[in-house]
Amino acid sequence: MNQTETGALASKIKAIIRDVPDFPKAGIIFKDITPLLADHASFAEMVRHFAGKFRGAGITKVLGVEARGFLLAAPIAMELGAGLVPVRKKGKLPYKTVSASYALEYGQDTLEMHEDAVKPGEKVLIVDDVLATGGTAGAACDIVEKVGGKVAGIAMLIELEFLKGRAKLAGRNIYSLIKY
Ligand code: AMP
Repeated sequence: MNQTETGALASKIKAIIRDVPDFPKAGIIFKDITPLLADHASFAEMVRHFAGKFRGAGITKVLGVEARGFLLAAPIAMELGAGLVPVRKKGKLPYKTVSASYALEYGQDTLEMHEDAVKPGEKVLIVDDVLATGGTAGAACDIVEKVGGKVAGIAMLIELEFLKGRAKLAGRNIYSLIKY
């Protein structure tokens, strides 16, 4: 896909994503991807686009971050011919886990992954819907690296550039389709 086609896809998907002001709290504009999920043609095009960006990079696992990341990571993993790995909030995964914590505005949060989900040396693509401050994606990278995996890329449907998440993820291979 060339730059013009990518721009057209980004504009189309931007128009489908719904802004919900003051959710989950005052001052946040929530980027609601459910209208995109419900639009088969656009969702499929988006999935093919993201898979195309990372095809040939030797990725064998696609890691989806709870919860909306699951919805994007699963079809991208299928399209890439890679396995799917869920990364969840603390206490949700049934087997032995590795974890990483990250700072929130107030306090901290912890993400977990099954310890055998990524093998040492495996190349992993991390997928989520929104890159905001970068804390979530940073913790996902830490978890992958704790078990010896390699973060080959970070794929985000939406990047909120004003929150400077990229700075927190310096040196990482980050691709986002839609930027605000
Ligand atoms: P952060 O750790 O600050 O980069 O936040 C990223 C996580 O929070 C992702 O899992 C997103 O799904 C979610 N998130 C942050 N900001 C928004 C937003 N404006 N709309 C929807 N989801 C968001």
